Order: sequence, then structure tokens, then C-alpha cells
Amino acid sequence: MNWKMYIDGEWVDSKTGKVMQVLDPSKGEPIATVPEGDIEDLNYAIESARNAFDDGRWSYLTPADRSMYLLRIAEEIEKRFDDFVKMETLITGKPIKQVKSYDVPYTIDNIRFIAGAARIIEGKSMGEYVSDGTSAIRREPIGVVGVITPWNYPLMMVVWRAFPAIAMGNTVIIKPASWTPLTTLMLAEVVHKVGVPKGVFNVVTGPGSKIGEEIARSKKVDMIAFTGSTEVGKRLSELSSSNLKKVSLELGGKAPFIVFEDGNVEGAVEAAIVGGLINNGEDCANSTRYYVHETIYEKFINRLNERLAKVKVGSPFDENTDLGPLISKSHLERVKRYIDQGINEGGRLLTGGTIPKIQGHENGFYLSPAVIETENEESSIVKEEIFGPVFTVLKFKDYEDVIRRANDVIYGLGASVWTKDVIRAVRATRDLRFGTVWINEHVVVPSEMPWAGYKQSGHGASLSAYSLEEFTYIKHVYFDITGKVRKDWYNSIFKGS
Ligand code: NAD
Repeated sequence: MNWKMYIDGEWVDSKTGKVMQVLDPSKGEPIATVPEGDIEDLNYAIESARNAFDDGRWSYLTPADRSMYLLRIAEEIEKRFDDFVKMETLITGKPIKQVKSYDVPYTIDNIRFIAGAARIIEGKSMGEYVSDGTSAIRREPIGVVGVITPWNYPLMMVVWRAFPAIAMGNTVIIKPASWTPLTTLMLAEVVHKVGVPKGVFNVVTGPGSKIGEEIARSKKVDMIAFTGSTEVGKRLSELSSSNLKKVSLELGGKAPFIVFEDGNVEGAVEAAIVGGLINNGEDCANSTRYYVHETIYEKFINRLNERLAKVKVGSPFDENTDLGPLISKSHLERVKRYIDQGINEGGRLLTGGTIPKIQGHENGFYLSPAVIETENEESSIVKEEIFGPVFTVLKFKDYEDVIRRANDVIYGLGASVWTKDVIRAVRATRDLRFGTVWINEHVVVPSEMPWAGYKQSGHGASLSAYSLEEFTYIKHVYFDITGKVRKDWYNSIFKGS
């Protein structure tokens, strides 16, 4: 099928007529085309979003009115639940049971939360902070927001970034990842159906290096909300200096998973497998570095290998599949390179890391889950984001040592600790420099709680009420309450005259 882009409330081709192919990663075969947007198409979208913002057709609606649109969108996605599940599964290769039980229902919940939160934005109370006047705070939309999303949660990441933006009265131009644009375009169908005014929600498909960079360069765009790699986040920050646009970044991660000597090994291993393999190992919060206390190390490793042997790698559409393919050939090669590098840097591959044969999916981008143990804390598999089903396991002796090693990466997104000692657990929540710390759990993120990075995992927050504030300016307004011609403080300038 040949898809179109959504600009100014209409479905359009690229002005150049060029298209890009979308592949099924489980078979390596093309399934659709989308327009290869060019600068002219982007400028049209920026113009459209600019007009829709500047004339107040959206920003001057009440929060309740904007919220109603969001609730209708959630309802429409629910009506097309199976279509969204099938398409998200097809373009990403995630196991359908995950998409059905998590990606799509959670996305609907995210939208409903954002719709509600947009109506209860809080601020400092209005009052007389100086005796002559009354001060109040306004939260106002920033303007035109460029939203650039990754391929790993194509639907959810658009919602996490574009929906708080529009809920607060901004207008958006979305640039989805080139590998996975189709559920973003389905979302645009829903937005169109519920009658969101034209220009408020635009989708431009096209290469990141061209469309993404131009969004950052444009002086008509007021803010960028980017979710993706740290490397591209840095590039966008540089380019955004053209007009000092606000930049909100949700970037890479390298989550430690720390199991202390009193941790529940069986529970930790179950969570380790889910934390490591969720989303085919392509989740920014994936547990990736397993620090296990030396006294329970053997037990943990044996149990991990035993449980991983039961993981079913297969077709994303098979309800029994636990692990699907990686997103692309180039990404598969990158992950394999990391495994080789880990071994060259002193690691021992205990299991996996091979290309499984799956009938009917011979050209899919599959990799069996790999476990590598290492003592080399400086190895690239310990320090860098791999973004694949690779478990790096390390031993530790004491609390101070493991916390220092866990913190010693450029990332700071998520971390988990496994212990029954409440004092140690609370200390760890303070000492770990990550935006989320889980105790005896990994990956859980309710809509109401912030998802935010420390260090080079970015800044700003997704989810929670904080994600809505992210898309606002804060304005102080002041009312004189004396009615005096000469207020006392004017004496500081012209006393007596
Ligand atoms: P990526 O940075 O390669 O691409 C993200 C988006 O940026 C895509 O739309 C891409 O087309 C675009 N892009 C690529 N090069 C660009 C450029 N030079 N200028 C502007 N835009 C450009 O990331 P990815 O491979 O799609 O996604 C995986 C990354 O996303 C991982 O690092 C992962 O940790 C991160 N991620 C983070 C979060 C979070 O919440 N922190 C969530 C999901 C994914």
C-alpha cells in the first residue's frame, strides 16, 4: 500500500513524488511505501502549524475542549484496537502478545491521562507577594513543536511527546522514524476523524538527516521534543541554537540491574528476562548490566541460562513468541558487533548470540538472546547502549563498589535494585543517579509518574503532569492594587521631585 503524509488537514504526497519503503523486519520484505518528504513539504507543514498556532484556533480553546478531542482520539483507537495491534506488530516485529497487552492499551491510557491532566495544571497561588500588587502565574503554550520519534515504540512515543504538546495548546509537526511511520499515520487518520482543526497535527515522513535536521534549524519552530539516540539528540541541540528553541530530550539508556546477596534470585531472574527482552531488547529502559553479588552469582547465572533456554524466538504474530526480530539488518549487525567486541575485550559468551532459523522468516533480522559475563568494567558492552537482547553479567562485593560502577556511565534513565533490606533499598534510591529507580522490579512506568533522564539520557519529562508543563512557558502577571499615581518605591528613582 502507498501511504500519504498528513499536512494541513490533508493527505499529500511529497512534492518530489519520491517514496521510501517500509519493511517487515521479521521477513526483510517491503510492505508499504510512504512519501519521502522534502524541505518544501516540511516548510508547508511548518507554515500550517504556524498559522494554526498564531490564529489561536487551538490555543484559545478551553482545556476542557482540547481534552475532549483527546478523549475521542483514545476512543477511536480503542475501536480500531486490532488494526493498531496488527500494524504495530508488523512494522516493529515485536511479539503480538506484548503489543496487545501493553503497547496499544497503555498508549490509550496515556492519552486519557494526558486529557485529564491538561485540566488540572497547577501553579503558585495568586497573591500579594509585594503589598502593592497581586501576582499570578499563567502557563501558556510555546508554539510550534517539532516532534521527532524513534522506531522502538512508534505509536507510544508520538503520544508521549505530541499529546502533552497539543493538550497544552501547541501545534505539532511529527517526523516519525523512517523504519516505522505507519502507526503514526494511522494516528493521524484518527486525529482527522475526530475533527482536530487543520494544522494542529501534521505528520511529515522522510529521512532524519534531512527533515529532522531542518526542523531543528527552522526559526519558525519554537521547540523540539526529541526521543531517540544520545548522538542525534546532541546534533539537534546544536542545530536548535539557530533561534534558541527549547529542546526536550529523551535519549538512550544503560540500566543497571543490581542483585544483592539477600535478593530473591528467582524473582530477580524472571524480571531480568522480561527487563532484558521486552520490546525485543530494544527498549531504552532495558536492564542491560546485571551486577550480581558474588555469593549468589552462580545461582543467578545458572537460573538465567535455564530460563533463557525456554524463551521462544519466532514470528511476531505467533502468540507464543517471546522474542521477535531486531528492527533492521544494519541494527542486527551492530548488535552482533557488540557481542564480538565484548568477547574481544575479555568477556565470555555463555549462551546465544546466534542467528536462529525460523521457518518462513529466513530473511528476518533475528538474534538469539546472548549472555556474556565479564570482569572488564571498561568494556563497550558495559558502557554503551547495545539496544538488543544482550545480557552483560558482572560480579560485585559491596554496596559502595556496585553503586559507583552502576553510576559510572554517561546514561541515567532507569536502574533497579533487588534486596529485602529496606535501609539499603532506600539508600540506593538516593545514591543511584537515574531518573527512575525500581526496588524489586524493573521497567514499570505508570502514566501518572515521570519518565525522565539524568545525564546524557536527556532532560525534560515524559508522562505525568510534568510532561505537560514541559510544553508551556511560565508567565508572571502583575496587577497594581493601589491605584496610586506615585507608589512609595518610585522614591528610589526620583525622591522629592
Ligand atoms: P535515532 O536517534 O537514530 O532516531 C530517532 C529519530 O531521529 C528518527 O525519527 C530519525 O529519523 C531521526 N533522526 C536520525 N538522524 C537525525 C538527524 N541527524 N537529525 C534529526 N533527526 C534525525 O534513534 P532510534 O534508533 O530511532 O531509536 C533508538 C534510540 O532511542 C535509543 O537510543 C533509545 O534508547 C532511544 N529511546 C529513548 C527513549 C526515552 O524515553 N528516553 C524512548 C525510546 C527510545
